[in-house]
Amino acid sequence: MNRADKSRRDNPSVDLVFTADLGGTHLRAATVDTEGRIHERVKHKTPKADKADEIVRAISALSVVVPGTVQVETGVVTKAPNVPCLDGFRLAAALTSELHLPATLENDANAAAVGEMWMGAGRGSRTIICVTLGTGVGGGIILDGELWRGIDGSAGEIGHIGVEPFGGVACTCGSRGCLEVYASATAIVRMTREAAPRYPGSPLHSSEELTAEKVYRSGVEGDELALEVFRRMGQYLGVGLASLINVLNPEKIVIGGGAAAGWELFAEHAREQIAARAFPVPARRAQLVRAERGDDAGLLGAAHIAFSQREK
Ligand SMILES: [Zn+2]
Repeated sequence: MNRADKSRRDNPSVDLVFTADLGGTHLRAATVDTEGRIHERVKHKTPKADKADEIVRAISALSVVVPGTVQVETGVVTKAPNVPCLDGFRLAAALTSELHLPATLENDANAAAVGEMWMGAGRGSRTIICVTLGTGVGGGIILDGELWRGIDGSAGEIGHIGVEPFGGVACTCGSRGCLEVYASATAIVRMTREAAPRYPGSPLHSSEELTAEKVYRSGVEGDELALEVFRRMGQYLGVGLASLINVLNPEKIVIGGGAAAGWELFAEHAREQIAARAFPVPARRAQLVRAERGDDAGLLGAAHIAFSQREK
């Protein structure tokens, strides 16, 4: 008997929400109880679907994390760059008609922020900023315990704060010099290639298929090229966070995502920029911490959102 079966036997009324995290690559789902415990979980490849109804059949779950902008009130996916068949699709209504249960949607970075506040590094704090350093840079802002979605559901795009206004690298959003092009896993690889000619002795020259993970491992071994790249990444991150700290005066800034694995190589550089640029009182207040719940943050956040909507 697994833990979930045992918990159901001990407490047959245990209250569970089915959550799904629809990523560009993987579809992960879990049942989460009101205490934030994850029961059953599954992980599949995201269907390479042309039609949204194939995604609906694959999910069969009710609080859904979407990699894109969503309109929470109407349950419409506004724009999902990695799952384009969902653009403009009434996903919540389609799930409800398939499953005969209410369905809610949330953006992936927003859900991760709620998950970290509920059951992770943001626990006990009511005003936090969550930054996800992955293929791109995602953000979620929680003010006084409430997710800040903005009037169109597009708030929290921390990855697109301008940190290099003149001569900045072009960003997928159409702007230039966004934080995302200096602090994502993709940016780490690009900056390593750009800086490589200045470090002819770096072991990364012989590395096939450069990844942020390889650059990080090389940095831990003391490779100057990798250390420079993470220093720049941390500095740009600190520049962006300093502005957010001045504007929002958060208690915690929670850094997650795959590239957060390089924490020991970039965090001090981010802190230096924050100390140099932000007002002293909010800069001292804002604790820069690593996310604790990894890939589960989105699922936990989706569950928490579903539980709190039910209470309203
Ligand atoms: Zn951008």
